[in-house]
Amino acid sequence: MVGGWSCSKILGMNTPTITSSTTTSSYVRCCSTSSLSLSPHFNNTSSLRCAVVGAGFAGLSVAWHLLFNSPKDLKLHVDVFDELGIGGGASGVSGGLIHPYSPKVKLLWRAEECWIECLNLLKVAEDAAKSPHFGLDTDSFVVRRTGILRPAVNEKNLDVMKENALNCLSSCRIRTIDGVAARELVPNLSTPLDTAFFMPDAVNVNPQVYLQALYLACENLVTRMDSTGYQRKSISLQKESVASLHDLKGEYDAVIVCLGAKVDTLPELSGMLPIRTCRGIVALLQLHDVSCEEYPGHSPSILSDAWVAIQSPRSLCLGSTWEWGSRNYSSSVSVEEASATLRELVPKASTVYPEITKWSLTGARAGVRAMPPLTPQGSFPLLGCIDDLVGGSSPSKFWLIGGLGSRGLLYHGWLGKLTAGAVLSGQEDVLPPELTSWRKMKRK
Ligand SMILES: Cc1cc2nc3c(=O)[nH]c(=O)nc-3n(C[C@H](O)[C@H](O)[C@H](O)COP(=O)(O)OP(=O)(O)OC[C@H]3O[C@@H](n4cnc5c(N)ncnc54)[C@H](O)[C@@H]3O)c2cc1C
Repeated sequence: MVGGWSCSKILGMNTPTITSSTTTSSYVRCCSTSSLSLSPHFNNTSSLRCAVVGAGFAGLSVAWHLLFNSPKDLKLHVDVFDELGIGGGASGVSGGLIHPYSPKVKLLWRAEECWIECLNLLKVAEDAAKSPHFGLDTDSFVVRRTGILRPAVNEKNLDVMKENALNCLSSCRIRTIDGVAARELVPNLSTPLDTAFFMPDAVNVNPQVYLQALYLACENLVTRMDSTGYQRKSISLQKESVASLHDLKGEYDAVIVCLGAKVDTLPELSGMLPIRTCRGIVALLQLHDVSCEEYPGHSPSILSDAWVAIQSPRSLCLGSTWEWGSRNYSSSVSVEEASATLRELVPKASTVYPEITKWSLTGARAGVRAMPPLTPQGSFPLLGCIDDLVGGSSPSKFWLIGGLGSRGLLYHGWLGKLTAGAVLSGQEDVLPPELTSWRKMKRK
């Protein structure tokens, strides 16, 4: 037991995995039957106030898990701060492609935990989006479940992916197929090595819609608990910039910093974290020519040296560029830069999807990834208590979720859940050591 709360619960081992029939109300039932106690750190307080700074994948995941995993009798208020609103950073511009494999690494770190928790959160958001209040357009989606196809383009990746296919998760299968079978999935696909890897369970998220739906799910959870007699949870979104963590000191029992690449702009953390920034541009393309064949509704998105994330039969996102060290946090992209992006990405995409040349540019957007350091053991996000970095005496406790790199969607569910457990128990040691090992690294 840690702080009166068992580690297995903190790490989510007892939390029921969502099945296709699970709804938000069953979440409430689960939450309201919880008999967990809090960290002694919080026991002498009648209520707990948490600030989540940043409303991207990391911030909204931890907000959800704080509300959902906290004891039923705890009065908990969560303020979510974001200078641009929900999805204002890298999360909102991401390609939205999710699968637990890498063409470079035989077994991705903690693939199964990340994948399962990610699917759980996607389901939570999908359920919320079904509400008439949400107003989901008929041509939009939270999650597109038509899989992802990766045609092999070089021998090295071919071998790694073959190995991944042999050891794949049962919840995210990989089928090794030849060029003919690949073209049955995506007409006119090109398979340079006559091999492709089809991940039928991999998904495509519309990141903005998903984040809006996840925030609504938090609000719905609070409302439903209210209606079942537990008027003790609340959440609110503050659309404002946090200039310094010291501004939040004293007001909150816990502050969870989820600022992505902009974490380095906070005076308390600037130069203190071993993350590197990498800006990426995504081009938005449409098929204007009515004589051109539409992208079939059942066909998967495509991964290669460039990726093609299908939005509808006549619109797609093409990504992405990699500009290391950039501090340009604006999501706007000039016409010149958008054209240059197209010149870079279309040749890469057309190696596997020659039809891309028929699509026209309609826009582009940019985001900055917070890349975690490479270590001999791998590349891990940065989690943990950062009181020592923030400094000063304060009753608040400061926490970090950072360095989600180019896989924020895969990681966010599990990392948000782990961090909520650490915050509520007041214990950092419930976090896997590889996620807190960044502290031992030399600072910039
Ligand atoms: C071009 C591109 C494509 C990508 N594609 C994929 C993909 O297909 N799949 C995948 O898994 N990952 C993808 N990623 C990576 C993924 O987007 C990131 O890992 C993820 O978004 C990081 O989430 P986050 O919540 O940590 O940060 P962010 O999403 O950056 O969230 C930080 C939030 O903090 C807010 N903020 C910043 N400063 C302040 C302040 N001072 N005060 C208040 N609020 C502030 C911002 O507005 C922002 O909303 C992509 C990234 C890029 C750039």
